[in-house]
Amino acid sequence: MTKKYVYSFREGNASMRSLLGGKGANLAEMVNIGLPVPMGFTVTTEACLKYYQEGEKISEEILSQIFEALENLEKEMGKKLGDTEDPLLVSVRSGAVISMPGMMDTILNLGLNDESVKGLAAKTGNDRFAYDSYRRFIQMFGNVVMEVEHNRFEAIIESVKEKKNITLDTEMDAEGWQEVIKHFKEKVKEETGREFPQDPKEQLLMAVEAVFKSWNNQRAKVYRRINKIPDDLGTAVNVQTMVFGNKGNDSGTGVAFTRNPSTGENKIYGEFLLNAQGEDVVAGIRTPQSIDQLKEVMPDVYEQFINVSNLLEKHYKDMQDIEFTIENGKLYLLQTRNGKRTAQSAVKIAVDLVEEGLIDKKEAVLRVPADQLESLLHRRIDPAAKAEAAAKGLPASPGAASGMVVFDPDEAEAMGKEGQKVILVRTETTPDDIHGIVLAQGVLTSRGGMTSHAAVVARGMGKPCVSGCEAVRIDYEKEEFQVGNTVVKKGDIISIDGSTGQVFIGEVPMIDPELSNEFNEILKWADEVRVLKVRANADTPHDAKLAREFGAEGIGLCRTEHMFMAQDRLPIVQQMIMSETKEEREEALAKLLPIQQGDFEGIFEAMSGLPVTVRLLDPPLHEFLPNAEELIVEIERLKSQSASEELAAKQEMLKKVRALSEMNPMLGLRGCRLGLLYPEIYEMQVKAILKAACTLAKRGIKAIPEIEIPLVGHELELKTLREIVEKTAEKVFKEEGIRVEYFIGTMIELPRACLTADDIAKSADFFSFGTNDLTQTTFGFSRDDAEGKILPHYLEQKILTDSPFIVLDRKGVGSLMKMAVEKGRQEKADLVVGICGEHGGEPNSVEFCHMINLDFVSCSPYRVPIARLAAAQAQIKHPRN
Ligand code: PEP
Ligand code: MG
Repeated sequence: MTKKYVYSFREGNASMRSLLGGKGANLAEMVNIGLPVPMGFTVTTEACLKYYQEGEKISEEILSQIFEALENLEKEMGKKLGDTEDPLLVSVRSGAVISMPGMMDTILNLGLNDESVKGLAAKTGNDRFAYDSYRRFIQMFGNVVMEVEHNRFEAIIESVKEKKNITLDTEMDAEGWQEVIKHFKEKVKEETGREFPQDPKEQLLMAVEAVFKSWNNQRAKVYRRINKIPDDLGTAVNVQTMVFGNKGNDSGTGVAFTRNPSTGENKIYGEFLLNAQGEDVVAGIRTPQSIDQLKEVMPDVYEQFINVSNLLEKHYKDMQDIEFTIENGKLYLLQTRNGKRTAQSAVKIAVDLVEEGLIDKKEAVLRVPADQLESLLHRRIDPAAKAEAAAKGLPASPGAASGMVVFDPDEAEAMGKEGQKVILVRTETTPDDIHGIVLAQGVLTSRGGMTSHAAVVARGMGKPCVSGCEAVRIDYEKEEFQVGNTVVKKGDIISIDGSTGQVFIGEVPMIDPELSNEFNEILKWADEVRVLKVRANADTPHDAKLAREFGAEGIGLCRTEHMFMAQDRLPIVQQMIMSETKEEREEALAKLLPIQQGDFEGIFEAMSGLPVTVRLLDPPLHEFLPNAEELIVEIERLKSQSASEELAAKQEMLKKVRALSEMNPMLGLRGCRLGLLYPEIYEMQVKAILKAACTLAKRGIKAIPEIEIPLVGHELELKTLREIVEKTAEKVFKEEGIRVEYFIGTMIELPRACLTADDIAKSADFFSFGTNDLTQTTFGFSRDDAEGKILPHYLEQKILTDSPFIVLDRKGVGSLMKMAVEKGRQEKADLVVGICGEHGGEPNSVEFCHMINLDFVSCSPYRVPIARLAAAQAQIKHPRN
C-alpha cells in the first residue's frame, strides 16, 4: 500500500500533531467538531523528511497525492485554481509540530495570475480588490519563495504612490495596483532571471517546496538549537482555501475571546473591522469596533458567532482565543487556541467552568498558575497606564508604591509618622534602617540581591522592594540620585514595582488588590486536596495575624533577631554585646527578657492552637553594632569637640566592632555557635518563649512552641544545646507552677547536617530546612555577592536556568534534602520535617517539597495562598498519602 502523505482537513484530528504539525492537527480538529473552517489539506511532516531523503526533491508519489487533494478541494468548493472566471485561491503556511517562529512566512492569494485576476475582478465586481490581492500575492511569493528582497517591492509601491501623489496604500486605485504589478513582475525577472510563474499548479508546488526548505534555513536551525527541538521532526504544509474579509460591507475580520481575558466575565470579548483583512486589524490604521456592535451590523453572523463560541468551549473545556473572517455574511474560523489571561481572569474562569459542569474542581485548581496569584495579593501598576520605566532592578518584594524619595531612615520614619508617603532609597539596607522601612511605602536599593537584607525585610512586611538597581547612582551628600541623565532629588516622587523590578519617575496609576469570592473558592478546593501543610514566616503579632488570615496553619519560622533590631531594643542589645563579663551580659539580657516575652505572648495568641517555630538568635553579633567607617567619622568629630565621655564610649564600641568583624560573617560566629559560646543568650530566649506559653496557658490559650536551633552541623552541637534548653525549661515550669508542651528541633541548613541527619535526629523533634543557607553553602555562593555579581552572568550564559536562591536546585540542594529526610526518619519515624527558606513559597520548589514527603512549607504571609495552591497542584500531579 502506498503511504499517505496528504490529508484533507476532514481526515485529521488533534492527536495527529506529529504527522500534521500543530496547526494542521488543530484545523482538522475544528473541522471535525463542525466548525466553519475554510477547507484545505495538509502535506505531512513525513513528506518533508522524504523531500530531504530524496536529495531535496518532491517525489512523484507525493506530487500525485497533492494534486489529488487539490482536485478534491476544487470539487468541494466548486471552483478551480487559476480559473479565469471564478478562481479558487489558497493560502500556504508552514506548520511544525512545535510552533517555530523562525519558519516561513505565510503566502496568501495563491492561484492568481494575469488571467485569473480578471476573473476575480469580474466575480467580485471589485477591480481594486482583485489587483490589490494579486500584487500582495506577488509580493509575498516573490519574497518568500523567489527570495527577492522585501524592500525592492516596497520601493516600487512608494514610487507609484509618489507619481500618483498619494500617501496611503488605501488611496491606491485599481490602475495604480496594475502599474505596481507590472513593475513587480519586471523586478522579479530582473532579480531571479525568470518570469513570475503563471501556472497555478507550479505556484503551489514552488510554495510547498519553499516550506520544506524553510525547515533548514538558518533562523530555523538556530531556533531549534536554542530551544532543543530535534532536527528530524520536519514541518507540515497547510494549503487552505482563502476567505476574504475585504469583499464589501458584509465582510470583515477580527479577533475574539470567548470570555473576558482580563476579568474572566463570561461574555464574548473582542473586536472586528468591517471590510478589512487580517493585516488591517494588526496595522491599526482604522479603529476596530467592539464585537458587541456585530450584533447590530450583522445579527445573523453574531448568532453564528455565539454558537461557535459555545461549541468551542464545550469541546476544548477552556476559554478560547479565536481569529475569524466574515465573507459575504458567512463566518469562518481561521484559528482557535486556549486564550492567555490575567490571574484574576484565570481564577474566575476556572471557578465558572466548574459551575458550568465543564471541568471538575481538581482541574480548576490546576488551571490557575500559582505564581500568577502573587499579582492579586498586592497593589500593582495599572497596565493600562503604559508608563515607561526609568530603570530596572531585581523584583525583590512584590507590590507597587509611589512616594517621595528619602535617603535617611530616620527621616523616612519621621515623615511616615506624619502620614507622608515616602520611598526609602539606599545603596543597601542594614538592620539599623528597619525603623525607616516600617514607615516607608517601599524600598529601593542600588545594591544587593533578592535575599539581601532589604528584600527579606520588605517581603516579611509585605512592602514593595526593588533591590540591586545599579542604574540608580546615589549621592547621599547631595541627597539625590541619578538615573541616566535624570537627577532625582530628595522629596521628588518616584514609583516602584517590586513585582517587576521597575522604577518610574513620578506617580503612576495603580490598581488595588481585591480577593474575589472565586479566589477564596479555588483556595478552598486547594485545601481539600493538599497534604502538605502551609505555615508562615512571621516575626511579629501583626504578621502572625495576617498570616492566619491568609490561611497559615502555624508559624514555620520566627526570626528572633528581627525583634532585637527595633529602636527601643538595639541599645540594650548593644550593651549586651559590649559586655566584658558574663554578669554584665546577664544584666542586659534581663532587660531584654520581658520585652521578648511580650512579643511571644502576642505571636502565640495570634496563632493559638497552632505550632510556632521560634528560632533562637542567628546572625553574627556585629550586625547589631554600628558600621566601623561611620564610627571612625563620628570619633573624629567628637575629638574636635573634645566631648571626652562620649568619645571614650565610641572608641570602646569601635574596638568591639573591630574585634567582632569577621572575614566571612556568613560562616562565622552565628547560629548555634553563638549559643554555645554565650549560652546565657539562648537561656534568656528560652525563658521568654516558655514564660509566654505558661502565661497564656493560665489564660486558657494554647501555645505550641517549637524551639529551633539554627545552623547545626554536628550532632553534639544540638545535643549540648538541647540539654541547656531542657534545663532552662524545667526552671521556668517550676517558677511558673505550670508545664506546657513544647518541642526542640533544628534548622537543616548546612551540607554536613544533611549528611549526618540520622545522628542529628537523635536530639531533634523536628527539622526545618533553611534552604537560603543550604543553597549558599552547597553552591559555595555568598548569597548577596552571587545574586548581584555572579548569577546574572550564569543566567545569561545558561549555566543555570533559574537563580537557585529563588527556585530550589532539585539536583544538588534537593538531593541533600531528600537524603536528610530519609536519614532523619530512619532514626525517628515521626520526625516532623518542613522548609522555611525563601523557596517555601515558590511553586516549583513547593512541588519538590511535596515529592520528598515534607510535612510543611513555610513562607512569608503574602505567599501563603500561593503555597496552598501549589501544594494542591503538587498532590494532584504526584499523589501521596
Ligand atoms: C535559611 O537559611 O533558609 C533561613 C530561613 O534562615 P535565614 O534566611 O534567616 O538565614
Ligand atoms: Mg539560615
